[in-house]
Amino acid sequence: MLKVDLHCHSNVSDGVLAPAAVAAYARKGGVDAWALTDHDEVKGIKAARQAAAALGMRFVPGVEISVTWANETVHVVGLQIDEDAPQLVQGLAATRAGRDARGREIANQLARAGIPGAYEGALKYVGNPDLLSRTHFARYLVEIGACANTPEVFRKYLSEGKPGYVPHRWATLADAVGWIRSAGGIPVIAHPGRYRFDRTAEGALFDEFKQLGGNTIEVVTGSHTPDQYGVYAEVAKRHGFLASRGTDFHAPGEARVEFDKLAPLPAGLTPVWHDWF
Ligand code: AMP
Ligand code: MN
Ligand code: MN
Ligand code: MN
Repeated sequence: MLKVDLHCHSNVSDGVLAPAAVAAYARKGGVDAWALTDHDEVKGIKAARQAAAALGMRFVPGVEISVTWANETVHVVGLQIDEDAPQLVQGLAATRAGRDARGREIANQLARAGIPGAYEGALKYVGNPDLLSRTHFARYLVEIGACANTPEVFRKYLSEGKPGYVPHRWATLADAVGWIRSAGGIPVIAHPGRYRFDRTAEGALFDEFKQLGGNTIEVVTGSHTPDQYGVYAEVAKRHGFLASRGTDFHAPGEARVEFDKLAPLPAGLTPVWHDWF
C-alpha cells in the first residue's frame, strides 16, 4: 500500500528544512506520495517536485491557506493545485501582505512584556521574508530561554489574550476555496479538531464549505490526537467527505508525529487520493 503524506512545511513558510530536504526526510520516513503545503505560499513547489522525482516519490503540489471564519483562524489546504494559476498566486500574495506589520506589532507587545528585539530575533529564523510567522517568534523565544519549547511560547505569549497576540484578518473561506478551485485543486479543511468551535459552529463551517464545492477534510494529521482520528472519521462518513492524511511536519524533532509513526486512515473512508496514482 502506498504511504501518502499530504501536509508538510518547508522553510518557504514556517518549517526549518528547504523543500528538497523535506522531500528527503519524508522519503526516509517511508513516504511514497508526498505534498508540500506551505502556509500562504507556493514558492517551494518547483524544487519540491524535482526533489520528489529524484527520490522516486509521487508528488502532489499543495498549499495551506490562512482563513478567518467566524472570527477564528481556519486552515484550508489545497491539493493538486496548479501553482502558477494567476488567481491563486494573487490571492496568496494578498493573504501574505499583512504578515510583516503583524510581526512588528507582535514584537512591540513582546517588548512591553519585557522581551525586546523579537522582530529581529524572529527574522533570523525566516527563510522567506514574505512569510514571517508566529512560529518564527516561538523559535526565537525558545532560543533566548524565555520558554522551554514552542508549544509553551504559544501558550504563554502567542495565543489569544496573551501579551504578544495580535489579531489578524486572513482570507475568507469563499476566497480560499475559490482560489484553490480556480487552480484546478481540491480544497481540504485542515485539522478540523484544532478549532474551538462547538458542534453547531463546526457543522456550519462544513455546510458552507460544501456549498462552496468542498468535499474533503483531514482525518489523520499530526495536529489531531489519536482520539480525534475516530471523531473525524465519523464526521467524514456522516457528511460524505473524502479523507486526507498528513503529518503537518515542520521540523525534525519539533514533529508532533514523525513520518513513519503516523497512523493510516481508519477503515471505511475514501482517501482523497483514491484515483490519483
Ligand atoms: P501564523 O500563521 O503566523 O499565525 O502561525 C501559525 C502557525 O503556528 C501554525 O501553522 C503552527 O505551525 C504554529 N502553531 C500554532 N499553534 C501552535 C501551538 N499551540 N504550538 C506550536 N505551534 C503552533
Ligand atoms: Mn505552521
Ligand atoms: Mn495548519
Ligand atoms: Mn500546516
